Amino acid sequence: MLQVLNPATEELVATVPAATPADVDAAVARAAAAQRGWAAAAPADRARLLRRFAAVVDEHVEELAHQEVAEAGHTIGNARWEAGNVRDLLDFAAGGVERLNGRQIPVAGGLDVTILEPLGVVGVIAPWNFPMPIAAWATAPALAAGNAVILKPAETTPLTALRLAELALEAGLPEGLFQVLPGTGPVAGNALVEHPGIAKIVFTGSTRVGKSIMAKCAGQVKRLTLELGGKSPNIVFADADIEAAAAAAPMAFLDNSGQDCCARTRILVQRSAYDRFLELLTPAIEEIVVGDPLDERTQMGPLISRAQLDRVRSYVTEDLQGIRGKAPEGPGFWFPPTVLTDVPEDAPCAVEEIFGPVAVVLPFDDEADAIRLANATEYGLSGSIWTRDVGRALRASRAVRAGNLSVNSHSSVRYWTPFGGYRQSGLGRELGPDALTAFTETKNVFISTEA
Ligand code: NAD
Repeated sequence: MLQVLNPATEELVATVPAATPADVDAAVARAAAAQRGWAAAAPADRARLLRRFAAVVDEHVEELAHQEVAEAGHTIGNARWEAGNVRDLLDFAAGGVERLNGRQIPVAGGLDVTILEPLGVVGVIAPWNFPMPIAAWATAPALAAGNAVILKPAETTPLTALRLAELALEAGLPEGLFQVLPGTGPVAGNALVEHPGIAKIVFTGSTRVGKSIMAKCAGQVKRLTLELGGKSPNIVFADADIEAAAAAAPMAFLDNSGQDCCARTRILVQRSAYDRFLELLTPAIEEIVVGDPLDERTQMGPLISRAQLDRVRSYVTEDLQGIRGKAPEGPGFWFPPTVLTDVPEDAPCAVEEIFGPVAVVLPFDDEADAIRLANATEYGLSGSIWTRDVGRALRASRAVRAGNLSVNSHSSVRYWTPFGGYRQSGLGRELGPDALTAFTETKNVFISTEA
């Protein structure tokens, strides 16, 4: 049994049975049967059903958002956005069903065409930090491309995923096409990875588990997308609008209590602007409203679990100095907004993913030094560059080795632009114009015109 706790109160929200390997076997058999009919259906019909699924999700945004607050502790505003994001992902994917075009390639003596075929049954292993959007990032395009999906949500956050599976049936999606199997990673997650009937795994979570899944997929040459950790830089050059950069920096790492793989947790500030930046950042951090996620004024809620709280605490040791915000006392997994200063460049808190409301500020000398520091972790997921010099913005955008950069903004993920990591932040891309293609095989067919 999985115990679902409210992270803001530590109260038990629900208990959910954990799937066994036998449950995974049965789900794969059901999914394979449903997928055959789904792939054979007319593209317009598949698109229509996905749009209907989106419409049903839209009717339940408020309910899903409250479920997200209860099991994940997200602020209500964020949770509403997340439920709406599932709707939008389904609509966007539905628009791709009838545009999943192959190519016609010039050849001598015949006609050459490519066909984009669905993979079959896709296993999606989702994390707890954005349970709904991340599950839908893979599920929506996989279904649109003609696949069936089995989703294993994280142990701590199975409820919204289970509800989405019910809504899919309500919308008219065939039984077995989209199934949700709550369970533990080492049992249900691993059974999906090892199952020969699963054609592709999409995994989002820690780099450590991602590597072990990659090794297991190798045994079957199983297709794999990995969205892993990050330790992203927020580079502030002295020529930037320092007021704007300092005002934007807090929520760039505090949104979702820092439990965001794109969180800008390495704030790199050019030395000549360093003191001014800290002077502006300090009150901004101290004023962040941390508390009841259901209160519309709250900017930051609790961490997901006691384990995550302990992990975050282990990085913020007594000897470290910095800026501390406020957090509630009493029950709940609370940690205050924290910015650490005067830490060595290679300190664990400066290079490892903490996944909590903790950032470091490091000074740099010039552009070359900024790029060196920005690339000085094993990750490469996202980053921000603040400068008024357009040439510098472009040079830095090219030099930072990360998949998702923003200039003079902390742009978040958009479902219509590609997303993914360089280096140990991941493998493959999700979202964007090619989202559906990631769930297909390309078949090349040559047809001779010889008489
Ligand atoms: P995790 O990698 O252990 O879990 C992510 C998902 O993988 C969950 O659904 C889990 O059940 C499943 N899983 C775990 N072990 C598995 C296995 N052996 N086989 C198959 N599936 C397995 O992440 P976590 O323990 O929940 O969090 C730990 C750290 O991971 C965080 O502190 C953070 O640094 C990182 N993380 C990153 C992201 C991200 O979006 N990149 C998301 C969550 C966690």
